[in-house]
Amino acid sequence: MSKGGVVQQVVLASIRYFAVCRDCAAQAEWWGVQALVGDELRWDVECLCATCGFAVAICDGDLPAHLRNRLLAEHGHATLRVAPPVQGAKVMRVLRAELGLDLTDVRAALERALTGTHSGTLPEVEHLARRLRASGIDATAEPPTVA
Ligand SMILES: [Zn+2]
Repeated sequence: MSKGGVVQQVVLASIRYFAVCRDCAAQAEWWGVQALVGDELRWDVECLCATCGFAVAICDGDLPAHLRNRLLAEHGHATLRVAPPVQGAKVMRVLRAELGLDLTDVRAALERALTGTHSGTLPEVEHLARRLRASGIDATAEPPTVA
């Protein structure tokens, strides 16, 4: 994927977790990857059951809240940085479109973006930063600081 000749890096955050096998109901090992590929945010999971040998890969599913929390717990929170001069209306338009917020919530999100407290997984925040940059706003995703 390229935009104006600039190749956009794939950003990944992954976790390994245990959940029931869909075939034999034993505890199986799952592997989930949240990936930002170009402008697309994906959630792919794979399972390989050691008990019955069942294997499955599910691409582009919905990231469940509890696994998103695990991603944040294991990888930390990335933070959105928006450089001045602030173009509030432009930023709000992107935040509204990307986060599906109403007018009240988008003001709070703008406040978080401008004060450097809007956070999420690195692929999520990088996704938002890319959308903001596409609108001419100088935004970056600051990777989590992992202790
Ligand atoms: Zn199984």
